[in-house]
Amino acid sequence: MTESRSVPGPAADADVPAFWRALGLPGLIDVHVHFMPPRLMEAVWEYFAEPGPLIGHEWPVRYREPEEARIARLRDMGVRAFSSLAYPHRPGMAESLNGWLGGFAERVPETLRTATFFAEPGADGYVRRALDEGARVFKAHLQVGGFDPRVPELDGVWGALADAGTPVIVHAGSGPVANGFTGPGPFGEVLARHPRLTAIIAHLGAPEFDGFFALADRYERVRLDTTMSFTDFSGHSLGGFPESLLPRLRELGLDGRVLLGTDFPNIPYPYAHQLEALAALGFGDAWLRAVCWEGAAKLFDLQ
Ligand SMILES: [Zn+2]
Repeated sequence: MTESRSVPGPAADADVPAFWRALGLPGLIDVHVHFMPPRLMEAVWEYFAEPGPLIGHEWPVRYREPEEARIARLRDMGVRAFSSLAYPHRPGMAESLNGWLGGFAERVPETLRTATFFAEPGADGYVRRALDEGARVFKAHLQVGGFDPRVPELDGVWGALADAGTPVIVHAGSGPVANGFTGPGPFGEVLARHPRLTAIIAHLGAPEFDGFFALADRYERVRLDTTMSFTDFSGHSLGGFPESLLPRLRELGLDGRVLLGTDFPNIPYPYAHQLEALAALGFGDAWLRAVCWEGAAKLFDLQ
């Protein structure tokens, strides 16, 4: 360990600005935030309220409030840039979601303009269009979508994203419940075909941490996001992170390849708890700076 000092994590959301200021940062960048059309958001919250087969346990969403209130919270905490992840659970809805997400990015300047896709004919056409319109990050949800990332309809999508160097946040881990084509195997085959793809593996790949960290070792553009990791809640929903990977987590973080993600607003604990959980790892201030700001600032070219 070259640095043992760690700024303490914030105890409450109101303490979040003091946390990033103590680190000497201009704020936070959160790559894993959800904003979606209000009716879809309500449907997601209903699903969390009465856990269905893809969740498996109680999940009381803490920030179930109007969009304006959620945007204001992020601003108050000093989250200077955030994604607006939305994802289709069936064919035929990605394109209209992308239209809504484009409008959201125009209304909310902190947004990293986000787009999504489903495994369906025509996906590469609307993905290219989203890229032309300025999408800066994509979301692929293999767990909810239940589709195979290796299908021919998506080959052009992965290729276009790799060529553009535009990151795609992939929920490919089998948490909270295995479904469809999750796990490092299927997505590993996508990376083998498209080794230059800038994939951000959500939730550090939980619960298949070893397999996804092996992909990060093999493909230098692969990143991991911290979403829900090390929180009190993740012990129940996402499985335990293996101690043997902690040194690698530290190295990848210092390298700018571990990015702050939170799943706001769909979390059952205060936003601050994610930061507290990361600070509690004791990896030091340089690691926290890299994870909470520098890695994403470099990836998205933010000042
Ligand atoms: Zn999420």
